[in-house]
Amino acid sequence: MNILENKEKILSKIHSACQKKNMPSKGVNLVAVTKYVSNETTKNAVLAGIEHIGENRIEGLLEKKGFLSDLSVKWHFIGTLQSRKVKDIINHVDYIHSLDRLSLAKEIQKRAERTISCFVQVNVAEEDSKHGIAVKDVLSFVDKLKEYDRIKVVGLMTMAPFTDDESTIRNVFSALKQLQLEIQNKNFPHAPCEELSMGMSNDYVIAVEEGATFVRIGTDLVGKEF
Ligand SMILES: *Cc1c(COP(=O)(O)O)cnc(C)c1O
Repeated sequence: MNILENKEKILSKIHSACQKKNMPSKGVNLVAVTKYVSNETTKNAVLAGIEHIGENRIEGLLEKKGFLSDLSVKWHFIGTLQSRKVKDIINHVDYIHSLDRLSLAKEIQKRAERTISCFVQVNVAEEDSKHGIAVKDVLSFVDKLKEYDRIKVVGLMTMAPFTDDESTIRNVFSALKQLQLEIQNKNFPHAPCEELSMGMSNDYVIAVEEGATFVRIGTDLVGKEF
């Protein structure tokens, strides 16, 4: 795995996608998802200039954060978060991508020692297998989050279905964009909602074309070791 080479290739695809849509590519942040790779490989990613690291398991994040303690990294928790585990992770992350219920918000409020940047996870495709709030419920959910001053809703997150059908994927991402615009129209002080976390190895180009500002890439960037 040549992470530097992979990174350049991905950034150039992001750049082309942005050019196609007349958007500045500087607005897209690359999160390296390191759940399938070692501490050493994660370190190599940071040394290759990656600033954002994403993990979907608490143990994985804490271990890598310990290993990379002398490097400057923004830490993203992208996995399902059980309420009883919030206390183990909340003060070790910069972003949570999986806020999907009020009970979790309540626990974050109770345990966080500062304001946490959160993405509300949306189940756009309404797949039973996926976590996230149904599109029709997102606006009222975000409104309720104003009660929790330790939560800042920086944006929305979704995962597209596993399919080769590009239009299905594109529709999911553009629906998330529409939802973002609706929320922004409300001018909620607690929910500026300026970011969209969407796009993985197989669909990040489509995500960027539809307005992603954080893409979460594992396999294509750092590879898969286990
Ligand atoms: C694993 C994972 C990714 C990255 O997946 P790749 O296909 O390896 O790029 C992105 N987002 C979430 C939530 C993940 O769990």
